Parts: sequence; structure tokens; C-alpha cells
Amino acid sequence: MLDTDLLTQLRGYMERLVHPIALQPNIDASASSTELMALLQQLAQCSEKIELLAPTQNSQFRVPSFTIARQGAAQDANVRFAGIPLGHEFTSLVLALLHVSGYAPKVDEALLQSVRELDDELVFESYFSLSCQNCPDVVQALNIIAALNPKVRHTAIDGALFQDEIAQRQVMSVPSIFLNGKPFAQGRMELPEILAKLDQNVPARAAIAIREKAPFEVLVIGGGPAGAAAAIYAARKGIRTGLIAERFGGQLLDTMGIENFIATSHTEGPELVRQLEQHVRDYPVDIITQQRVQKLIPASMPGELIELQLHSGASLHARTVIVATGARWRTMNVPGEDAYRNRGVAFCPHCDGPLFKGKRVAVIGGGNSGVEAAIDLAGLASQVTLLEFDAQLRADAVLQKKLRSLANVVIHTNASTQRVEGDGEKVQALVYQDRGSKLEHSVALEGVFVQIGLLPNSEWLQGTVALSGRGEIVIDERGQTNVPGVFAAGDVTTVPFKQIVIATGAGSTAALSAFDYLIRSPSAEAVKAKAA
Ligand code: FAD
Repeated sequence: MLDTDLLTQLRGYMERLVHPIALQPNIDASASSTELMALLQQLAQCSEKIELLAPTQNSQFRVPSFTIARQGAAQDANVRFAGIPLGHEFTSLVLALLHVSGYAPKVDEALLQSVRELDDELVFESYFSLSCQNCPDVVQALNIIAALNPKVRHTAIDGALFQDEIAQRQVMSVPSIFLNGKPFAQGRMELPEILAKLDQNVPARAAIAIREKAPFEVLVIGGGPAGAAAAIYAARKGIRTGLIAERFGGQLLDTMGIENFIATSHTEGPELVRQLEQHVRDYPVDIITQQRVQKLIPASMPGELIELQLHSGASLHARTVIVATGARWRTMNVPGEDAYRNRGVAFCPHCDGPLFKGKRVAVIGGGNSGVEAAIDLAGLASQVTLLEFDAQLRADAVLQKKLRSLANVVIHTNASTQRVEGDGEKVQALVYQDRGSKLEHSVALEGVFVQIGLLPNSEWLQGTVALSGRGEIVIDERGQTNVPGVFAAGDVTTVPFKQIVIATGAGSTAALSAFDYLIRSPSAEAVKAKAA
């Protein structure tokens, strides 16, 4: 089940176990139970500190499932996996073993304190799919809470193995979180967001800590490839560097295979994010996540500080700013899209595809991402309808050829999506207009995957920094915007191609330009001294 390389790595990780732990399986005679037992046996062989208890057949719990607890405390186990946590959840499994054993999570101590202070009995259930890259963040955050706070329990459930349950609970998108039996949240969330939802004082406490931060020489906004590269280049100059982002990783977190990151034949988005974050952390960069910047106030005169106002109410100050806020999925803006979001309308085929196994889906968009999504989904769904507004598909020829070879794919070009229809709970049909005949057609289906491109995350700069007609930040070849001291890089800018290597290159250019600007500008102290 786990190959030799993985087992060797695992043994290394398991050396970090603090207290001995016990795994308690709950199984039956099914093939998935046998598979789970094989995995647990391998885990138990990785360390003397892991004990595999005799399996139970308790109908009160999901089958197959297993708990992780300190040895001697299996009765009070707070962390349970229902299913076999391999794929993207393997890391969640490894971290759960460590954290339950007492190994401290790599999270701000203030956050961990907030976890320990939660005072209510909380029973979380989260649904994931093994191919979902957004799910591990949720599973890992909830496991940390359950490992640290005895009043919290969490079961992470593989939706693909518990299809009846997801149908009954109408889970149409992963990750999906239930708290005390009721829907709590959907979509990627990290620990601070979950805590903020549980305890409204958490963001206020974070804002107080941010307010106390000294001004930065370079403050990077964005934690995608452009922001990470900018922060590394700035920090290597030995200047005080900060990086603020809503979520570290940006679009890479939604990316499956990457085969054009030069010098790396193949990697996956979340893996590259881990490497980027580790690389940034090799330098003294102050990383602030889960904070959204909502306003930039330019310096009143050269040498003065730029102010960034955050959604949480706090402000940060910097001599130079590098905006690397990237882009986000474009929506169709048709009736029903919002109403059925996560109830059939989805944006991440890698995440939510498995939930539509054997069902009928549509993909909107005939560019590379739409056609890739349709090919991917054709392996799972019973029928895939691809709709393209243009008279022809825009994807690369090789992808089109593959798409047209698939028996369960129907392609409609010249098709303008009109609305998503449903029964109030879930999607039932998609209506499109044939732009030639003007006739409307309805496609009966259960899922709609929207793949029509990206929008730059720049609305908050309107009226402050010059933007192109498409909302992209206008930069010159040095990454300079029209505002002194404000630079920009990556997908949020007018750079012609939106790719990872291009974003990292642009981030590096912007950081070097910011440094160049700094050494040629008077510092705030010098300006004050001159004025005095
Ligand atoms: P992003 O990655 O979008 O990062 C933006 C950052 O800014 C995030 O951290 C975000 O949280 C933060 N942010 C946004 N607004 C704010 C705010 N107001 N305040 C604070 N923080 C904010 N490229 C390739 O080269 N190869 C591929 O194979 C590939 N595949 C892709 C597959 C998919 C599905 C997608 C969506 C993209 C793919 N790309 C690929 C494109 C590539 O991911 C992007 O070009 C790249 O991520 C752009 O990096 P960025 O740093 O400019 O922006």
C-alpha cells in the first residue's frame, strides 16, 4: 500500500512522536476495511510508539473508520478518519498522528491559545475527496483543534466512500464542514478562519497584534508565486520585509499537475506551495495570513510611509509596497449561479469532480482549463456537456483532439449560458441559448463546472493605482506602477502571460526595483529631520 520510499519518510516523521499513540479501527468484511487495516498495520510498523488496537465492529461509528488517541485513552479519542486517508489526505494523517501525540503544530502560539480556550462541546464532521487539494487545510485545521482541545471532536470523512451519507446531507462540494450535525461551512478554510467563525474575538485579537508591527521597508501583498518570490528577493537584501496574504499559495492551491515549472518535470500545486512557504520562511520575512488588504493610501510625500488598511480594522505601514494579489475564478453572472453555488455549481473540477461520479455535468468554457476539466470529468461523470460561447473551442489542439475522442462528451459551441435551474436544493438543469438560431435549450444535469477564466484582484485599488480596462495594474518593465513606491507583479498586472514562472520572475523584478527605489529615496526619518 505505502511504497518503500514513503515508508522510509514516514518512519522519519514518526521519530517526532512525543507520547505513544493508539489506532482503533472500526471495520467489517468489506474490501475498503481490508485496505484500511493494511494501511494501519503499516503505520504501526513505523514506530514503537504506535499501537494498533484490535478492530471493533461498532455500528455507532462509520465503517471503515479509525481513531487516533494517546495510548490508554482510546475511549476518549477526538480525532477519527472515516475512509482511507491517502491521496491528498495522507499529509493530514501524518500530522494528526504527530499532533495527537503532543507534537506542537506549526501555528502561531496566539492561535493555539485561542484553540485551547474554546469552551463549548463541538462535534465537527468534514467531508473530503482524496483528489481535493482544498480539503487538507480544513481536515488539518479541525484535527489540530480536536487534538488540542478535549471538548472538540472531529471526524474527517471521505465522501466517495460514504455516497449515501453525502446524498442525504446534500453535500455537493468538498470540503464541507458540519458542526454539531448542522452545516457550518464549505470550501477551503484555514485555522484562523475556522476560529474566527467560532469565536468572534479572534480577528480582533489578530488586529491588535498587527497594529503593533513596526513599518516595513518592503511589504508584499499576496502569497502566490509572485508574492513569495518578491519577499525572498527583498529579504535577501537584508531589509525589513513583510508578506500579507489572505491565503498563502494563491492559485497554486487549486492547481493539480504542474509540468512547466522550469527544472521540475512534474509537481503539484500544494507541494509547490509548501516549498515556496519553506523558502520564504528561510528568511526573516514577517508572514501575516488570513488578512485582506482593502485600501492603499499612498505616501503624502517621497520618503513618507504608505498605509495599508486591512479588512480586520488594523493598518500596516511600509516604505514600499509590492502588490501581487493575483486573480480569481470568473463567474457566469447568470440567474441560479449564486443560488446553487456548492449545491451543483462548482469551480474546482479536481476538488468536486468525485462527488459527481456517475452523474451528468456541464463544463462552461472551451479554453484550456475548460477542456482539461471536461476530459478529467469524463472519467467520472456519466455525461459531460461542454459549452463554449465562441464559434470554436480555444483550447490547444492536442486537448481538443482528446476531448473529441471521448464517447460521453457532447460539445456545443456558439452557446450562451442563460441560467442554472434547480429544485431549490440542488441543480437540475442548465439552460443555454444557441447564438445562431437564438433558440433556448435545456440540459438536464446535476453539476455545472464554471471554467471561464480569471479576474484580477485589484478592485480595492480603483482610484489609487492606474488600472487597465480589464482591471489589471499597469506596470512598466521594472514592475513600477504610477504611484511612487508602489510596485506590482504577477497575474494582477498587465503582464501578457499568466504563468507561475512569469509571476516569480515578475515578483523578483519588483523586489529588486523596490530595493533600488529605497536606496535612492530619503527615509521617513531623514524627511522628518530635514523638515525639523
Ligand atoms: P496568485 O497565485 O493568484 O496569488 C495571489 C495571492 O494574493 C494569494 O495569496 C491571495 O490570497 C492574495 N490576495 C489576493 N487579494 C488579496 C488582498 N486584497 N489582500 C491580501 N491578500 C490578497 N501556471 C503555470 O505556469 N503552470 C500551470 O500548470 C498552471 N496551472 C494552473 C491551473 C489552474 C487551475 C489555475 C487557476 C492556474 C494555473 N496556472 C498555471 C497559473 C498560475 O497559477 C498563476 O499564473 C500564478 O499563480 C499567479 O501567481 P500570482 O502570485 O500572481 O497570483
